[in-house]
Amino acid sequence: MDYNTLINNFITDIIDDNISRNKNKKIITRFPPEPNGYLHIGHAKSICLNFGIAMKYNGSCNLRFDDTNPLKENIEYVNSIIKDVKWLGFNIDDNNILYASDYFDQMYGYAIQLIKKGKAYVDDQDAETIKLSRGTLNKPGINSPYRNRSITENLELFISMKKGQYKNGEKVLRAKIDMTSSNINLRDPVIYRILHSNHHRTGKEWCIYPMYDWAHGIEDSIENISHSICTLEFEDHRPLYDWFLDQLSIHHPQQIEFARLNLEYTVMSKRYLKKLVDDNIVSSWDDPRMPTISGLRRRGYPAIAIKDFIYSLGVAKNEGTASIEHLEHFARKHLNQISHRAMAVLNPVKLIIDNYKDDNLEILKATNNPEDPNSGERELYFGKELYIEQDDFMEEPGKKFFRLSPGQEVRLMHAYYVRCTHIIKDNNKKIIEIHCTYDPQTKGGWSKDGRKVKGTIHWVCVKKNINATINIYNKLFNKINPYDYQEGETFIDNLNAESSAQIKNVKLEYSLLNPIQNQNYQFLRKGYFILDPNSSKNNLIFNQTVNLRDSWKK
Ligand code: ATP
Ligand code: MG
Repeated sequence: MDYNTLINNFITDIIDDNISRNKNKKIITRFPPEPNGYLHIGHAKSICLNFGIAMKYNGSCNLRFDDTNPLKENIEYVNSIIKDVKWLGFNIDDNNILYASDYFDQMYGYAIQLIKKGKAYVDDQDAETIKLSRGTLNKPGINSPYRNRSITENLELFISMKKGQYKNGEKVLRAKIDMTSSNINLRDPVIYRILHSNHHRTGKEWCIYPMYDWAHGIEDSIENISHSICTLEFEDHRPLYDWFLDQLSIHHPQQIEFARLNLEYTVMSKRYLKKLVDDNIVSSWDDPRMPTISGLRRRGYPAIAIKDFIYSLGVAKNEGTASIEHLEHFARKHLNQISHRAMAVLNPVKLIIDNYKDDNLEILKATNNPEDPNSGERELYFGKELYIEQDDFMEEPGKKFFRLSPGQEVRLMHAYYVRCTHIIKDNNKKIIEIHCTYDPQTKGGWSKDGRKVKGTIHWVCVKKNINATINIYNKLFNKINPYDYQEGETFIDNLNAESSAQIKNVKLEYSLLNPIQNQNYQFLRKGYFILDPNSSKNNLIFNQTVNLRDSWKK
């Protein structure tokens, strides 16, 4: 796919304009996750946009960890993020994997500069007091009693903060801007706080940590970022972003905001996703029901399907919510191209071919993937006793039922025509055997005399098959917008109690004796599946990615 032509949006218009006015030598973007959780599909939008723009303009894109809050961040999240970005297919290596924590010294130096300019001061008020004194949209803030400390005193205090002479929360460093600004972000924001905490990269080296707005622009500036692309909620922070960089007179990237991706029937904030994991509502961050990149991967989504979905949505300034059908459309499109076909019987009943030789086992052939001439062939064992799906048989069929029923002839996929003769039931009237005869002249599933059948069903050999467990997934929440809950409830109350189901003792064709890791399979007529990482040779587990057709509307 040619991403260059796909990425054309109001941001590339701005960049084109900048280039035409010689404003930028090189286009450098960044994807700046905080390592406080796993990436979700919303992040994929930002990744596709930032790396896509870098590719379009022959520039570069950094994966930069915004690791400025040691309380919430850890190395597990860092590693998962690197893995996910690589898996999506973007080019990252040691040169463009960067960490905000590597700039702590520089950020500290810039804070000293700001103090020396008389543009920052140490405040002794506690967090609550500071919050209250910043006012509201209708009410201006009020100056801190510490706002007019001398530069010398501020320098001394800030240096002592860094040396660890104060407890958490005892002091903060604030920018000295304007407590009456109509933009609350400009009302003397805190830029450093005290946190005696171990950082996953810098250990105990620091006990003061920069706040997001202060750190972010400096990180962008140090990395020579040309365009700092972020989501709309940062629009109101842009004046602050600009103020800091102007005060420091350092390289000044252009911040541009776009609308975040929302997806129906799920939540998309790491904070909420973390709660699902912490409360054991899902098994892990990569639970196949999660909208995380790792969850989608484990569910069997190809990376290309996620990217196609993202690019199909475009980039704009107005928020929207994408539908799951739209996402699934791209999954099916790509899975159809790449999946190996196989037969799996999920709810088996025995089909016995009375005119087939008792101990005979025949080997039939079928292509692995009719969409791919190079995919090779697989062997299908065929014998007197087969498993078919219970619901492919009806004793008293309606007019539109073309599968197996008494007297009716159907095609066994890739094998023969069979005609049902009779059935055997147990004492509870449950069908335990369906009997039929086969026509040896129809090998491969085609009759030489031109006789047609209306139904084709799949099957698996009783003597040669593989046992497996299948996980079927459904939407995680009942509501299109899970944040829409009643008073006294939380988003948890909108969970779908039937978001997963497990089917045991599924019968798979024998070619799946050693299924290929990370290979997508189409179980004919049943959907797309992938081996779960918890699967083992004696306990095969497959996850359903999507069914074959869109059934959401039903
Ligand atoms: P969350 O609320 O899920 O924690 P975040 O914005 O706090 O998201 P970050 O780790 O800061 O998470 O995100 C890294 C980048 O991804 C940011 O530039 C952010 O704007 C972008 N991003 C996050 N969520 C989305 C989304 N739903 N759609 C598009 N971009 C997103
Ligand atoms: Mg965040």
